[in-house]
Amino acid sequence: HPQAPGKLYQFKLVLLGEAAVGKSSLVLRFVKDQFDDYRESTIGAAFLTQTIHLDDNTTVKFEIWDTAGQERYKSLAPMYYRNANCAVVVYDITQASSLEKAKSWVKELQRQADPNIVIALAGNKTDLSSRRAIEREDAQAYAHDAGLLFFETSAKTAANVNELFTSIARKMPLDQ
Ligand code: GDP
Repeated sequence: HPQAPGKLYQFKLVLLGEAAVGKSSLVLRFVKDQFDDYRESTIGAAFLTQTIHLDDNTTVKFEIWDTAGQERYKSLAPMYYRNANCAVVVYDITQASSLEKAKSWVKELQRQADPNIVIALAGNKTDLSSRRAIEREDAQAYAHDAGLLFFETSAKTAANVNELFTSIARKMPLDQ
């Protein structure tokens, strides 16, 4: 029955990545289906929730912790990923340095976070493909080797944003 409540699963999700890669924008797109070209930077961390109905019997609720990318907040990150069930590590396809930063976050998560954490790598800003600095195949090969989900996204056009979060939801431990 479509009105049946089914099961509600709740997971803590953390966003990590270099400043200005679009972490807050991906959250804003996913939670409110909005985009803002002139967003102010996140200070510290921000908290939002969003639910995904996977099927009539299964709802996944994400508690989303959007962390600030600035170096001066880096020491706060363990507080956010320590109890996280899943993580989205974001880079900007137009900024080569941002993939290196993403790889270092992945390494830190794989060493320090919950061993069962589900990690997705997101190459954001695909709408700026004329300025692309990171080939999709290279990032995808890295993600595959590191055991990560992988999506290229655009918070601006919404491309692949729901797919990213839905694929994380499907990867979570749900007893079905
Ligand atoms: P954060 O510091 O990683 O949270 O990045 P923000 O979400 O604050 O975004 C940084 C800047 O990039 C802002 O000016 C956004 O409008 C812009 N931005 C974010 N996502 C995209 C995208 O998919 N495409 C384009 N063209 N700009 C984006």
